Amino acid sequence: MTEEGVEEMRTKAREYAKKKGYVLNVNDKQLSVVLRGLARNLERFGAAYCPCRLRSGDPEKDKIIICPCIYHEEEIEEQGMCHCRLFFKKKSE
Ligand code: SF4
Repeated sequence: MTEEGVEEMRTKAREYAKKKGYVLNVNDKQLSVVLRGLARNLERFGAAYCPCRLRSGDPEKDKIIICPCIYHEEEIEEQGMCHCRLFFKKKSE
């Protein structure tokens, strides 16, 4: 995976977080691991599949785990973050 790919992923995640009122993981190391995983999946498999979930290998079934996956909203609501710790709930001020 290229550094460019990782940076594109970072930009996309940042924009999505902003739109939804989330924040990205403030731990840079953890954040980079997830962004790299997403960029690698995009490069290898043609879609940014969640790096923290198992793909079935069936593109139709795996659509639900393309980031942002169908689970993230509920996870963020319930646990304060998505499974990969990419998106976090904004702390109320
Ligand atoms: S768990 Fe987080 S990083 Fe993984 S696909 Fe869902 S939103 Fe993206």
